[in-house]
Amino acid sequence: MNRLEQNLAQVRSRIAAACARCGRRPESVRLVAVTKLVPADIIRQIHALGLTDVGENRVQDALAKQQRIAELDPAPAALCWHLIGSLQNNKVRKAAHAFAWVHSVDSLELGERLSRELAAAGRALDVLVQVNVAREPQKSGVAPEQARGTYHALRALPGLRVRGLMTIGPWCADPQELRPVFAGLRQLLPEDAADRELSMGMSHDFEVAIEEGATIIRVGQALFAGMTLASA
Ligand SMILES: *Cc1c(COP(=O)(O)O)cnc(C)c1O
Repeated sequence: MNRLEQNLAQVRSRIAAACARCGRRPESVRLVAVTKLVPADIIRQIHALGLTDVGENRVQDALAKQQRIAELDPAPAALCWHLIGSLQNNKVRKAAHAFAWVHSVDSLELGERLSRELAAAGRALDVLVQVNVAREPQKSGVAPEQARGTYHALRALPGLRVRGLMTIGPWCADPQELRPVFAGLRQLLPEDAADRELSMGMSHDFEVAIEEGATIIRVGQALFAGMTLASA
């Protein structure tokens, strides 16, 4: 086993253990490999190991890696690209084409801009409302009391499939301290939501997130520890 396979096996067993503790099936957790610090050829390697969901936090980086992957491979892998970082207004058009999911819709205005681009392109996008559950001043996301209103307003926009909510937990040495944040996101999901996706949990804290209902975890470091980091 190479380092990447070892890392992936370890992440999978951590997911399985967390699921066992709370009576969930491991298949109910979607693992998004956060590839922001690794180049295109490592993305191809993770795809070869069976991971199809990749997360990037910059539109430009994702586009560069997509292009590189297409150059390396005449029949490029069918990857599902997730935008997990903040989306600036001037990148909305590109983002509407480059991604299948946007986790970081943090205002109705951004949703409206995306919707207009998608309508023009005849495309649809899976989106999540990013919520700043812990109210950290430096983080984006709607305030918790705005989450449901934003969710419902976005649902009315063409081209957007509003799948659920996303949050980035504050950094805590002890991941157990994040339990109220993850539980808080779950409680903000409207009762009548058709989909109940909760994107929460990263390398350091995804077990607690899974125990609190995460359906999508975003994992970088734990997958790519020990790998050569370079630009695409
Ligand atoms: C980088 C990043 C992650 C992954 O964090 P790791 O600690 O590397 O697992 C998850 N979500 C977001 C929004 C990120 O920017």
